[in-house]
Amino acid sequence: MTNLLEAKGLHAAYGETRVLHGIDFAVRQGGVTALLGANGAGKTTTLRAICGLVRTQGELNLNGTSIGGLATEDIVRLGVAHVPDGRGTFMELTVEENMKLGAYTRPANQAHADFDHMFDYFPRLKERFKQQAGTLSGGEQQMLAIVRALLLRPRLLLLDEPSFGLAPLIVQEIFRILRRIRDDAGVGILLVEQNAALALEFAEDAYLLETGRIVMSGPAADISKDEGVRRSYLGY
Ligand code: ATP
Repeated sequence: MTNLLEAKGLHAAYGETRVLHGIDFAVRQGGVTALLGANGAGKTTTLRAICGLVRTQGELNLNGTSIGGLATEDIVRLGVAHVPDGRGTFMELTVEENMKLGAYTRPANQAHADFDHMFDYFPRLKERFKQQAGTLSGGEQQMLAIVRALLLRPRLLLLDEPSFGLAPLIVQEIFRILRRIRDDAGVGILLVEQNAALALEFAEDAYLLETGRIVMSGPAADISKDEGVRRSYLGY
């Protein structure tokens, strides 16, 4: 089976600042790939590169279609949804309004069925439907950001540090739901996480990024056994 996403020799730069130096990675159809690395390694930039939010060179293919150099709106239309770090939620809008924005590409009657589907995953958001997003807890805001991305009906979901700043119990809840979403919807996930233990447990494949270069890749189960990874990223 072909990969859902394939990057080959991917470079990215902010003006003169080169951040990614020719990296190769893939996300399988319906699979979860984790991208690990220390602060400043280039994980967020990799997600931004896939979305066309930063200047890139090299190959980027989604289901065999080249998306390198396309405008972000076209990449979204081809099925890529991004949950950025900081979540990208419109704080002054209600949960309902944020969800309507997520569903803007869908006819209104279908969007309502999609909303019900999302409430099945995230019942807390149904309770908060009319509430302003800025008044939600951090965990609920993260849930709303994931829902907004899913309402685009993506084939590939890019998640940037979904555990950031959240209490362990909420993180567990979010990852339990993400597993269900992956299993039900068959959506491929590229997960950026500083919490390597969590990411390696969730993903089938993993890549380790250091200052813009992939230094290790393979099945997540193998990477989690690596002595160096355990010492540097897993803390045991
Ligand atoms: P973190 O976990 O801290 O977010 P990261 O692995 O996601 O780290 P990036 O945010 O991709 O790393 O940053 C990689 C490098 O790119 C860093 O050296 C950073 O300073 C630089 N960088 C990020 N954003 C910009 C920008 N808008 N302009 C210039 N340099 C940037």
